[in-house]
Amino acid sequence: MIIDLRSDTVTKPTKGMLEAMFSAPVGDDVFNEDPTVIKLEEKLAAMFSHEAGLFCPSGTMTNQIAISVHTRPGDEVICDVNSHIYNYEGGGIARNSGVQAKLLTGDRGRISVKQIEDSINADYDWLTRTSLVELENTVNKAGGSYYTAAMVEPITKLCKDKKLKLHLDGARLFNALVETKESTQQTGKQFDSISICLSKGLGTPAGSVLLGSKDFIKEARRVRKTFGGGMRQVGILAAAGLYALEHNIERLKDDHARAKKIEQMLKPLAYIDGVMPVDTNVLIFDLNSKINTESFIKKLSENHIKVVAFGKHTIRMVTHLDFTEDMLNGVEKCLKSI
Ligand SMILES: *Cc1c(COP(=O)(O)O)cnc(C)c1O
Repeated sequence: MIIDLRSDTVTKPTKGMLEAMFSAPVGDDVFNEDPTVIKLEEKLAAMFSHEAGLFCPSGTMTNQIAISVHTRPGDEVICDVNSHIYNYEGGGIARNSGVQAKLLTGDRGRISVKQIEDSINADYDWLTRTSLVELENTVNKAGGSYYTAAMVEPITKLCKDKKLKLHLDGARLFNALVETKESTQQTGKQFDSISICLSKGLGTPAGSVLLGSKDFIKEARRVRKTFGGGMRQVGILAAAGLYALEHNIERLKDDHARAKKIEQMLKPLAYIDGVMPVDTNVLIFDLNSKINTESFIKKLSENHIKVVAFGKHTIRMVTHLDFTEDMLNGVEKCLKSI
């Protein structure tokens, strides 16, 4: 038995999901003729009170398309220093859109309306034009922390007042919503565009959906094509997404409960320096001088447990659909044996 805690992207499709994929009606999605893709786009758009959706191969692509549509070359996007768009998309902000990032240091990845307001450039032709604000929910690199609607509300208002677009990287948005118990409708109305990953906690093999207005999505379709993201009979993947929306949202709470149990296991251990508060399914912790990162990872891998280094002394674990109660016991045994 391999216990893979490297990411919530490592899940394999279940039998039920595979059956849904096998029986999906399909068509050519570049011609906008795949009924299953259209159904998924419409379903998510309706859930979040947006006019339209666009199915894409990855969350990097949905984020990068959003940045490209919302900005012009030379503009600036305001985001947290931990943000995925800045750290983990291969410099795509600059490469794809010719845009630069203004990085803020928020509270575990969550930036405040005050910080944003202080960072908007005045309209002088020698200053970089601020055109976009980006939030991430939950924040991957900050240990799965999440925004509540009350935290976002003043940011939405500020962006409207200052005529800035507001994009949400909601790769793990449902992890946040099962904790806050806030509605998808309320969340949707707070943003101009939202990217949602189906291949993280929701457990599909691939795919992300970008949500926005009709005009925004029309332009996004054009950009998707130029990024090489136009796919054909891709309803087989969209069917996995529809299945996941039906079956895999509420159960995210189980992933959070297991992550919190691992947090409790780690805290008393002599070789642990500190564990970031665990709010959802991401665990980030530091090792002290009693053990180095390589030997810790090696020890775990000898016990068939996979984790990733997230810095010189830092480890990340992510719980998910394929991480069971039995595996949790295996992790406890191993952590205590070190
Ligand atoms: C995983 C992830 C994405 C998208 O990643 P892909 O691997 O391109 O689907 C975007 N934002 C965050 C916060 C993520 O964790």
